[in-house]
Formats: sequence, C-alpha cells, structure tokens
Amino acid sequence: MLVVMQAHATDEQVRAVCQKIESLGYSPHPVPGAGRTAVCITGNKGEVEPGTLDEMPGVQEVIRVTKPYKLVSRDIKEENTVISFPGTDATIGGPGLAILAGPCAIESREQAFAIAERVSRAGAQFFRGGAYKPRTSPYSFQGLGEEGLQIMAEVREQFGMKIVTEAIDNESLELVAEYADVIQIGARNMQNFSLLKRAGRVRKPVLLKRGMSATLEEFLMAAEYVMSEGNYQVILCERGVRTFADHTRNTLDLSVVPAVHRLSHLPIVVDPSHGTGKRNKVTPMSRASVAVGADGLIVEVHHEPDKALSDGMQSLYPDQFDELMAQVRQIAPVVGRTVPAIGRHAPVAAISVDRTDTIPSSAP
Ligand code: PEP
Ligand code: MN
Repeated sequence: MLVVMQAHATDEQVRAVCQKIESLGYSPHPVPGAGRTAVCITGNKGEVEPGTLDEMPGVQEVIRVTKPYKLVSRDIKEENTVISFPGTDATIGGPGLAILAGPCAIESREQAFAIAERVSRAGAQFFRGGAYKPRTSPYSFQGLGEEGLQIMAEVREQFGMKIVTEAIDNESLELVAEYADVIQIGARNMQNFSLLKRAGRVRKPVLLKRGMSATLEEFLMAAEYVMSEGNYQVILCERGVRTFADHTRNTLDLSVVPAVHRLSHLPIVVDPSHGTGKRNKVTPMSRASVAVGADGLIVEVHHEPDKALSDGMQSLYPDQFDELMAQVRQIAPVVGRTVPAIGRHAPVAAISVDRTDTIPSSAP
C-alpha cells in the first residue's frame, strides 16, 4: 500500500501517518518526491485497511501497489534516484555518467596505484577492486582481505576517487562497510537474502549485481530486500547472464537497462567486463551500454593483465581505457548525458590504442 500525501502536507502530518502505520504493526518508508511525499507500507501480510489512513490530515489517497516489488518501483517514486557522494560532484543516476574502473582484485599497493593513476586520469570517479573475491576454485587467489581495503583507502586519499569493493559474506560486510564508499554485492550473492538484509541496514550505497540467471523480477526483488531494511541507495548492475551462447563468458543483456528504467527509479550501470569476458568486446559493449541509456559503466582495467591474479582476459590495458572514455565522450551527449572530465592528476598523453590482445585472433 502507498499513502500519497497532499502536496502541501506538513512534516508533522507525514510523521503522524508513519506513526499510525507503525502502530498497525507495519513498516513505513517515506519517499519524498518533487511535488509530494508518499509513504510506502511494507511488512503487511494482506491488504491494509485503507480507511484508517485515508481520513488522516494531509493524506490525499491510499492506493494498492499491485507489483511484488514496492520500494524499487516507479509507482511509488516517479523521479530517478540520484546517489551523490559528499566531497565530490560524482553522482550515480544523474545526468552525468558514473565511471567505475579498476582491477578485478587488489593484488598489491603498487598494482592498485599504477592502475588508479591511469583510470583517475582518464576520468573515472570511482575505483573498483576486490579485497574479497568469490572464486569458482578454492585454490584461486581469494583476495588480500583487510590489507586490500587499506590499499583502497590509500587510493581514495591519493586520487580522490570513491572506492567500490565487494562484500562476499556477513563477516566481510562489516569491514567493507567501514572502508568502502559503495558496497558491491556480487552476482553469486544476489539472492543471499541474509547478506542483502544486512547491507540494507548499512547507510552506504549498495551496488547490486544481477545474478547469473536472474530474471528482471528476481533482480528487482533482491534490491527490494536491501531497501526494505531502510537503505534506499541501491545501484543495479547488469553484468551478463548465462545463456547457450559460448562466444562470450556471459550474455550482456542490454535490454534490461530500458526495462529497469521503465519499472524502477533506481540507477543501473553496466559491467561489460564480466558481461563479455573478452577484452576485445569491452569497448564496443561500453559504447552500446551508454547508447542504451545506462547510468554508468564498471570496467576492469589492469596495467599488466597477463599477470593479473583474476580476470586478466577481460581487463583493458590503460591505453584501451583511455580510448573507451574518448568514445564514450562522443556518444554520451547524443543520449543527453555528460562524462566526467579528464582527471587532474597527470597530463593527458595523446590517446593511442594498444590493441595487444591475449585472445588469439581466431577466437570470436
Ligand atoms: C567482480 O566484479 O569482480 C565480480 C566478481 O563480479 P560478478 O559478481 O558480476 O561476477
Ligand atoms: Mn572480475
């Protein structure tokens, strides 16, 4: 149920409605809008008797929300959610594209700084990198843990980028929440409901990656889990799904971008790195992502991808990332978006594309 307040309703009237909802044993979620506030009700098993709320001062109407997801839905909030980051002009969901870039995993201070210097210079406002890695094999590099988080904090200090890193379980979530500016929940954990609920109790933005075989509704319901706990700063991320196609690691489902925008007010960014698994497809799919209306890109970049401890095959060389940004800068204005300026940390070298590619040319 959704209680729509009148445009001139006072804060006190909104508070009274929230208190009433609580006294009925449900959870109120006030959603301020441009013209008026709405209060979404969750925690009700059946239908809430509207009569009790209908008559309260400041209430315009009480409407049923028929979709299974409520807080993520555009039905309860018409305006796009724009997530901002104190101390920077970076936003996710606003007219400016959010550019998140960095290695798959933090491997050392030297590696992180070498990559951070380049992606920051190219215009990335967010540095990505895993300190806790969910690996298919227990024998693969699992991440540096807290040391990795400390390195990321140093990167933030040095380059002014906000940091994005993954929490893989309830234990790592606590530490990640201390260090990170954005907490990533990975594809493998998209339906780890206890982790989602815990992330919902943290007051930091959550980047929620789509599960490998999640439908749009399952994806949105996962976001609903986070929001139902009171954390409304959720960024969705399309990173490809499993299909029969084997020319790429995953099939990047770009049609989910306009589908999400239609149903939800939440921002959605695209990860063309995991979405393709192949370096030579990352830039073309980044162009397509921006053209289709994505709110940002999250891209893996490595200065020595042949030596990377994870996902080297899909990591761009820094020069290729420069070229990606140059291309995105041309496409963005066509769809009414702006792109962060080239950074202030070092002079920009002439853009040259290093097309060195470890993938044999016969590979698709
Ligand atoms: C990652 O971002 O490095 C990662 C593991 O992503 P995903 O959860 O999408 O596989
Ligand atoms: Mn990766």
